[in-house]
Amino acid sequence: MSRRNEGNWNSAVLAWQLTQKAKCLDLPDRLVSARREISGRIVFTTSFGVEDQAITHAIFTQGLNIYVVTFDTGRLFPETLEVWVETERRYGRQIHALLPDRVGVEMLVERDGVSGFHRSLEARLACCEVRKVEPLVRALAGATAWITGLRADQSAERAWTPYCSFLPRDRLVKINPLFDWSRNRVVAFIQDHRVPYNPLHDRGFLSIGCAPCTRAVLPGETERAGRWWWEHGEKTECGLHADHPAWRPEPAQFEA
Ligand code: SF4
Repeated sequence: MSRRNEGNWNSAVLAWQLTQKAKCLDLPDRLVSARREISGRIVFTTSFGVEDQAITHAIFTQGLNIYVVTFDTGRLFPETLEVWVETERRYGRQIHALLPDRVGVEMLVERDGVSGFHRSLEARLACCEVRKVEPLVRALAGATAWITGLRADQSAERAWTPYCSFLPRDRLVKINPLFDWSRNRVVAFIQDHRVPYNPLHDRGFLSIGCAPCTRAVLPGETERAGRWWWEHGEKTECGLHADHPAWRPEPAQFEA
């Protein structure tokens, strides 16, 4: 077995072991366990939604050496920027920022206009690529693990979200510590621990991204229906999670 294949195999085994250990652990202990078992740089990407705020709370209150970063796309809601400030104030820790490549944004706006993402799915994905995906690649450069706030019941596309997987293409362990939590459980966690949260959630914005691409969800709509709503559910992802894990457990195998 080549050294690269051996490394991939070890990481896949580690992902499986972390999954087994996490079954009976609450959020903070899942993160403590991940930090203890994984060597190297661990990156947590936050967009300041309730899930990400719960994870941020756990990382900061446990004093974990995990790099917390957000993508300042240039199109965020003022309320999102406020919760960023408030979170840093509450925990006394910095949330790092990655901005899009200036030349990339200038070329995009030159070609598609300042809000060209409304024109077509391709134009929208091009904007997400420049403002989110390319910064994500930089955020994860040299990292051994990536933590996200994905939950399996957020959408049909996320139903197969595992607790932990190994991404061989990127040679990354990806951990979704809230994969088996319901939204109500996340909200209860936020309330119990008085975690700062985005006030837009109280106005029906269940999933919050860039301001021009997010609206409040109407009664009966799914959680992510307010994201790129004009595409009529054609695609409710921005490309950040377009990975293809080599190994996936059955969905919802943990008890809530
Ligand atoms: S969510 Fe909208 S504004 Fe933000 S990067 Fe994607 S297309 Fe661009």
